[in-house]
Amino acid sequence: MGDCIFCKIISKQIPSKIVYEDDSVISFYDIDPQAPVHIVIVPKKHIKSLDHIIDEDQDLIGHIFLCAKKIAGELGLKDGYRIINNCGKLGGQTVDHIHFHLLGGRELQWPPG
Ligand code: 5GP
Ligand code: ZN
Repeated sequence: MGDCIFCKIISKQIPSKIVYEDDSVISFYDIDPQAPVHIVIVPKKHIKSLDHIIDEDQDLIGHIFLCAKKIAGELGLKDGYRIINNCGKLGGQTVDHIHFHLLGGRELQWPPG
């Protein structure tokens, strides 16, 4: 947790372009955007990955999806968007603090690579 990039963004040790913040969640622009809109939504609680959530995280994870909807609306993504969670090595996770990508602003391909 001490070396966690996202914990450092949460504590403002590392600057980021924040789009939304409340007591339990922070959301900021991805440093390496993969779409015209690429936001990362992160719970302030350090949870390693989706595979590490527990029953008591249920409301927190649900809250993140409501935040995603709100952020997408505020950013004008009226024609759609995508939420992605990369989990673990084979899932493409590179930062070991659970987070959800919000991608939009272009037509997204399916299936992903
Ligand atoms: P993952 O690959 O774990 O699903 O996603 C991690 C994401 O965090 C990547 O899209 C990467 O570009 C982003 N990222 C990594 N370090 C930083 C940083 O210091 N600031 C911001 N804003 N995004 C970061
Ligand atoms: Zn962390």
